[in-house]
Amino acid sequence: MNINISYRLAAMLVAGLVASAGAFAADATSQPASASAPATMPRILVLATGGTISGTADPRSAIGYNSGNVKGQELVRGVPGIEKLASIDAEQISNVGSQDMNDKIWFQLARRIQEAFDKNEADGIVITHGTDTIEETAFFLQNVLRSNKPVVLVGSMRPGGTTSADGPNNLYEAVEVAASAQARGRGVMVVMNDQIHAPRWITKTNTTAVQAFASPNAGVIGYVDPASVRFVAQVPQAPREVLSLPADAPLPRVDIVYAHANMDGRQIDHAIADGAKGIVIAGEGDGDASKEALAALDRAVKKGIVVVRSTRVVSGFVNRNVEVDDDKRGFVVSLDLNPQKARVLTQLLIANGVTDAGKVQQAFSGTW
Ligand code: GLU
Repeated sequence: MNINISYRLAAMLVAGLVASAGAFAADATSQPASASAPATMPRILVLATGGTISGTADPRSAIGYNSGNVKGQELVRGVPGIEKLASIDAEQISNVGSQDMNDKIWFQLARRIQEAFDKNEADGIVITHGTDTIEETAFFLQNVLRSNKPVVLVGSMRPGGTTSADGPNNLYEAVEVAASAQARGRGVMVVMNDQIHAPRWITKTNTTAVQAFASPNAGVIGYVDPASVRFVAQVPQAPREVLSLPADAPLPRVDIVYAHANMDGRQIDHAIADGAKGIVIAGEGDGDASKEALAALDRAVKKGIVVVRSTRVVSGFVNRNVEVDDDKRGFVVSLDLNPQKARVLTQLLIANGVTDAGKVQQAFSGTW
């Protein structure tokens, strides 16, 4: 396990850091995050990976910033009142903008989380992460972790040092969720801007706004504020009995091809020639594409490549055999999974030896 830095924060979180966390109210459905926390507080392990939440404002421009300037332990220390929620350790797993997130870091993360749970080192995990690919990391982890203990991913849209920095509150609320009794048994979640999202449903819907995420087909699974955690829906669970973390990164290559007007089959043919083991088409509408593109996808199927029809549309489902005869062509449909998450599931399935279109479809449908 290559962990760069490990910091025991309990000793570092001195009382003077934070004075008032405010008055915490609780009701029948909420988790009190109060100063009168029990003597044995939940143990939360913060795994830092980089992203804007660990960024600092760039003096050269009004909206520019450098991600990854602030390390995990500093992040936690900068959040008033967080020490009253839990006993917190922090480790630095990586320090990248999440556009550079990769299989190697994913495997490191998954293995460290599994180890922390298997050895009973933590009651919950919080992962600080860039927002660009946070949904993919959350979905990957949900599919490979063998524990329902809470794993909460969190990011921010504005770096530290700006007047509108949202990182401290988001991190506070992520720890609050991970430490809450209601989060037990819910597995992987994402907390952003007072909302709790499920990995299957969350997607980034705004490039720069603080309210940057939505779960278009299902809505949020809960709400959090400094006083309470409220769940309003269950997290859809992954087919744990089938998928497991392969021995080594990288995962099998699966390409995403974006459909558009006037599309020919060349990008798909290039993906075939380049050795893709799977192709996800970010189709138009309900996952459709031009005749030429579909013909190229037929060629992919004939070569044993897994072909999944997803959509470039942000909400709705891609259902089987509506405009495209999936049964005849041997295609899989992604249902509610967007292209980037359809890619992750296809990679994991292929890595686990599942390439038959019927079986892949069952995994996407959650019916196995
Ligand atoms: N592109 C960077 C990342 O995803 C910054 C975006 C963010 O974190 O909000 O890490």
